[in-house]
Amino acid sequence: MSMGPRGGGRGGRFLEDEEKANAPKITKELIVRILSYLKPYWKQMTIVLIAIIVSSAFSIYPSIITGKIIDEGLIARNMNKLVFYILLSLGVTLLSNLIGVLENYLNSWIAQHITFDMRNQMYAHLQKMSQSFFTTNNQGDIITRMTSDIDGIQFIIINTFVNILSNSITLIIALITMFQKNWILALVGIIIVPLFTIPTRKAGKTRWSITKEAQACNDEMNGILNETLSVSGQLLVKLFGKEEKEYQKYREVNEKMIGLNIKESMAGRWFFMVIGTVASVGPMLLYFVGGLLMIRYGYDLTVGDITVLVTLLGRMYGPVNSLLNIQVDWIRSMAMFTRIFEYFDMPIEIQSPKNAKKPEVIKGDITFDHVYFQYNEDRMILKDITFELKSGHSIAIVGPSGSGKSTLVNLIPRLYDVTKGSVKFDGIDVREWDLEALREEIGIVSQDTYLFNGTIRENLLYANENASEEEMIAACKKANIHDFIVNQEKGYDTEVGNRGLKLSGGEKQRISIARVLLKDPWVMIFDEATASLDSISERAIQDAIDPLIAERTSILIAHRLSTILAADEIIVVKDGTIVERGTHKELIALNGVYTELYNTQFKVEGMTE
Ligand code: ATP
Repeated sequence: MSMGPRGGGRGGRFLEDEEKANAPKITKELIVRILSYLKPYWKQMTIVLIAIIVSSAFSIYPSIITGKIIDEGLIARNMNKLVFYILLSLGVTLLSNLIGVLENYLNSWIAQHITFDMRNQMYAHLQKMSQSFFTTNNQGDIITRMTSDIDGIQFIIINTFVNILSNSITLIIALITMFQKNWILALVGIIIVPLFTIPTRKAGKTRWSITKEAQACNDEMNGILNETLSVSGQLLVKLFGKEEKEYQKYREVNEKMIGLNIKESMAGRWFFMVIGTVASVGPMLLYFVGGLLMIRYGYDLTVGDITVLVTLLGRMYGPVNSLLNIQVDWIRSMAMFTRIFEYFDMPIEIQSPKNAKKPEVIKGDITFDHVYFQYNEDRMILKDITFELKSGHSIAIVGPSGSGKSTLVNLIPRLYDVTKGSVKFDGIDVREWDLEALREEIGIVSQDTYLFNGTIRENLLYANENASEEEMIAACKKANIHDFIVNQEKGYDTEVGNRGLKLSGGEKQRISIARVLLKDPWVMIFDEATASLDSISERAIQDAIDPLIAERTSILIAHRLSTILAADEIIVVKDGTIVERGTHKELIALNGVYTELYNTQFKVEGMTE
């Protein structure tokens, strides 16, 4: 978790990216790609399609029968026909609604399944993203994409696609019927329709830009919540007394959000008001022109015909209105798909090569061969690092803070890939290894110990779910934490709290050592916490480390003399290069960087050589 710069800047950039991606570029590839998600459900979709056609056609049929009710029933005073058409109309409506239920069910079934597929695919993809993806991207953005964006897709499938289809069908049937009755009146009806488009275009545009802004605002709000309501974030806020400042920041974004939401709903209101007014002018115009044709010009039109036309016109407003609105939803939907696909398209930078190597016998040798590494273009973090670590041996890496020690060890399990040179494990470049097999052989106890919210047992078994109770206890005994655990009221079933924060730093570290011991890798990397511990905890940790390095190839990023002395060789890293190497005695004799570190850091521990 970082409390780095965030807010306006990041939100703004997000919007820019969005705008670029969204400048509604609806390409054939995009459509084909979207359809590929629908493909597995084509059978269900076909049924939905038929259901939509039938129910839309049936739903408009009663309007057509209205003419017959009036002409053949009411005006002709024929009771039998009147009852027949009324029953027919009711029957058709019932049927149409029943089909609608089936369509709804199938539709949400399809939508749920598509989002299920997408969510799984996205999660699996994100799991494969390199570490730098997670250090670079805002957690809020990632979560928004996993949740709201994919939920949005569901909405699109349930609403947008179906609306487009059913409204188009209703419209087509209405138009055909109108033209059959009387082409002049049909044309009058059609002339009214373009009146919708003028306000729609404007309302759609405003709504679109507000929606985008609201989306960025939402991301920003999620970001703030994620950062400040996390345990470590809260701790930071509290310790620096920033509650009021964070509150103000949140309030500001929240206020902006409310403003945008109101603006968005108002953009729609004006639109509906205009549409509503136009809608009431339409029928009157039809009655007038219809009356004119019938009374003045003797056209062959019945009262029923004119009523049907007016009813059908009424039935057209809804679909036209929807279809025009859908343009906005459609663009928004395409943007959502684009945003999701953008994530899918991010290359998986670190993965097993095609002919990945997976040696049968593992020795545990590590070689750094002229390794250079940079996180970003601007700065080389590691420069020309060369060393060899033989199986079963241990090496201590020391150096000033920020010199690149953690970075160096992260290259071994390929959390990052070298920029130049190579890191070899058992003589094979780690980039040629089967990634899973490689990581299986490397255990890291990192500086920032992470435990999942759960029990101690669950956290331990994360390393090896098949470990027996005895193995687990043996690992904890080795890691010098067993006694502590059994002294807890619930023993191994003690809850560790969010990120393990119910435990002390030293306890967490020893649990994480036990966790790695359960994994039993060939190579052990121990990134010692810089925080100073009291001498008892330090002894406990040291006793935990000793068995860890005894039988394995080990790298110790050390800040304590006791740890340094446990290693066979010491490498001193400064500004990303190895400046000195040797044993403690040899390095002290050099009177260089190591001696300086020794005098300022290690010696104060009060230990002697
Ligand atoms: P410490 O002893 O304080 O843990 P270190 O020697 O382990 O320090 P590293 O964590 O390897 O140092 O960091 C080396 C340099 O790389 C630092 O200057 C740091 O700012 C930079 N750095 C670390 N992680 C990243 C990252 N994800 N992106 C960009 N720069 C990074």
